[in-house]
Amino acid sequence: MADEMRRFKGSDEKNPFDAMSERFDRAAKLLGLDEDLYAVMRVPSREIKVYIPVRMDTGHIQVFEGYRVQHNFARGPAKGGIRYAPDVTIEEVKALSAWMTWKCAVVNVPFGGGKGGIVCDPSQMSLGELERLTRRYTAELIDFIGPDKDVPAPDMNTNEQTMAWIMDTYSMHARHTVTAVVTGKPVALGGSLGRKEATGRGVLFCVNEAIKRLDKTPEQTSVVIQGSGNVGGMAAQLMHDTGYKIIAISDIFGGIHNSNGLDIPKVRQYLQENRTLEGYPEAERVDNKTLLEIECDVLAPCATENQITSENAGRLQCKILAEGANGPTTPKADQILHDKGIFVVPDILANAGGVTVSYFEWVQDRTGYFWSEAEVNSRLEEKMIASFNELVGYGDRHGVDSRTAAYMMAIDRVAYHTRMRGIYA
Ligand code: NAD
Repeated sequence: MADEMRRFKGSDEKNPFDAMSERFDRAAKLLGLDEDLYAVMRVPSREIKVYIPVRMDTGHIQVFEGYRVQHNFARGPAKGGIRYAPDVTIEEVKALSAWMTWKCAVVNVPFGGGKGGIVCDPSQMSLGELERLTRRYTAELIDFIGPDKDVPAPDMNTNEQTMAWIMDTYSMHARHTVTAVVTGKPVALGGSLGRKEATGRGVLFCVNEAIKRLDKTPEQTSVVIQGSGNVGGMAAQLMHDTGYKIIAISDIFGGIHNSNGLDIPKVRQYLQENRTLEGYPEAERVDNKTLLEIECDVLAPCATENQITSENAGRLQCKILAEGANGPTTPKADQILHDKGIFVVPDILANAGGVTVSYFEWVQDRTGYFWSEAEVNSRLEEKMIASFNELVGYGDRHGVDSRTAAYMMAIDRVAYHTRMRGIYA
């Protein structure tokens, strides 16, 4: 709790659960959601906190704090990633779990929302320590996760190796292999082709639809991307391949800018070899704050939360904001963006490609029949385009902006399931 207070002290605008709740409240009010449903849906179903003892390489035991929040089960098992970071808080995990509920509803996949996190610094831990941490965390959660209960996936600082350890630990307890307990696994262990690229590909599909509003082709569209990890790096690559002009990209240490367009394969190669963008030739150095304010057609924040706030929203010079990250924009910034006429592809749609292909992975594991990459990508494209158009149509019919439309559509769907199931009667 002390850490939470420290992190959000003096800046309520940046409390992610408050940000989620504010948008939820606005959408619920516009929908006229009845007060019983409101009471059920506004809070998570379950918050689990575990203390994880791990024998470190020094021989000593260190106890780590971990969380799993299961926000909602009305539409199916909880679904959501696990992040490892020193500044993970329960507030953040709660917000992320709720976003998963709304995201799964927006793209209409049969999952609820969940999220997990462990307070740790993976950059300071050996592979062995990370494996022991992951296995013990999984064992602590054994009664709460499973293909029909809650299906974790990777998030920041976790990856397919982490998922393989979780799958193996769960299977040891079940005494048979249960691939469908997690998604984002290595392909050979029951993962899906196309999953690694799916979130970035989903961002691409949304941007392809959004630029039609500007009457532009990809070749005529300039793009700025914050973050060059799984989402940002992949979105940059796929957009570059499609013909978009990526004029700036960053990582946590800062970014690079070239208004004539960056050679993205070369940038990614440089990043892989040097572990930083600093020193990249053929571009100017730019800090992460300035990067967001570069004039462009599309700005895609694909790094972390709270990047666009009431402080800097007024200085943005993009026409479309495609939110690859979860929660990159605060509610106070929403109104400013709206007044500036910036079209927002909200996070719960823009980055839903990942959970959509996670759903495909879960389906493939359960049927034991695996699809080609082309099939995965074409089903993803169909779902993203349909969801984008549904959302825009919903917004137009109700006279609300795209973020409000996304929340209204999602809440309406979860409310329908909750009401029909009568689970709180
Ligand atoms: P990642 O760890 O692979 O990459 C994160 C990138 O952002 C890195 O380039 C990192 O250097 C940069 N970064 C981190 N903190 C930053 C900061 N404070 N300022 C500027 N840059 C910073 O993570 P990812 O998987 O690409 O996830 C990025 C975001 O997308 C997160 O919000 C995550 O929750 C969300 N997301 C990820 C997926 C997925 O499938 N990976 C799916 C949906 C949403």
